[in-house]
Amino acid sequence: KSRARRARKETSTTTLDDVAGIESAKRDIAEIIDFLKSPEKYRRLGAVMPKGVLLVGPPGTGKTLLARAIAGEAEVPFFSISASEFIEMFVGVGAARVRDMFQNARKEAPALIFIDELDAIGRSRGAGLGGGHDEREQTLNQILTEMDGFEAHENVLVLAATNRPDVLDSALLRPGRFDRKITLDRPHKEAREAILKVHVRKVPLAADVDLAQLSARTTGFSGADLKNLVNEAALTAARENLDEVNAHCFEQARDRLILGEERDAQLTP
Ligand code: ATP
Repeated sequence: KSRARRARKETSTTTLDDVAGIESAKRDIAEIIDFLKSPEKYRRLGAVMPKGVLLVGPPGTGKTLLARAIAGEAEVPFFSISASEFIEMFVGVGAARVRDMFQNARKEAPALIFIDELDAIGRSRGAGLGGGHDEREQTLNQILTEMDGFEAHENVLVLAATNRPDVLDSALLRPGRFDRKITLDRPHKEAREAILKVHVRKVPLAADVDLAQLSARTTGFSGADLKNLVNEAALTAARENLDEVNAHCFEQARDRLILGEERDAQLTP
């Protein structure tokens, strides 16, 4: 059975306060938010905003979170779809979904469209997947057609996420399509500390918890991993009937997450 579904529309309540450690991308993001908030200002000045922005970064670095935060800050409707869902669809369904989504977004403009896992359909046609996958290609073509078909003044911005920018079909990256890029890297130490702070906002911490030290001991963790770490620590505290989450809970959680990853790595050759 197909996992196919229509594009989801939501009103995002996520804000930039929920996204930490992305200092290098802040200026680009501020401009995009400002544009969605007051497109008229840009139009009066004759400034053309990009139609498409690529969010590039490894899994769990907050691409989806950032897209939601942009919609939340600009207070515009957020339409989202995951490109990997199109793979299992009947031919023609993906293209129709894409058409619908763009139509709805235009009606409610300014609006933001988010396409997750763009590489699932956006791989270069010569990437050696063996023969064109019809559905994939049709859906991709529909996205390109839609992006070419609307004018910058329609105030629909398309964000697309990928962790494989290297395999994307160059047609996607041409001017007027995804010609801007925001890169989210795996967080360095200070960024990890900032992300931890976001996720402990609602967690009662014991006095022995040192987030700076914890961030130093979580090299390689993504934002999603850090969120997981905080939750695992809180679960440990609950299991032990504690009132607060202490350093020991974080240690246990950290060990469990790291061991879990090693086990997974052994299972997948
Ligand atoms: P994927 O490529 O796997 O889809 P992604 O880059 O879209 O991942 P998200 O789904 O946005 O990552 O991240 C998962 C969760 O991890 C977020 O909902 C958030 O709770 C947490 N997270 C990730 N990055 C950050 C960050 N920079 N600041 C705060 N929280 C973060």
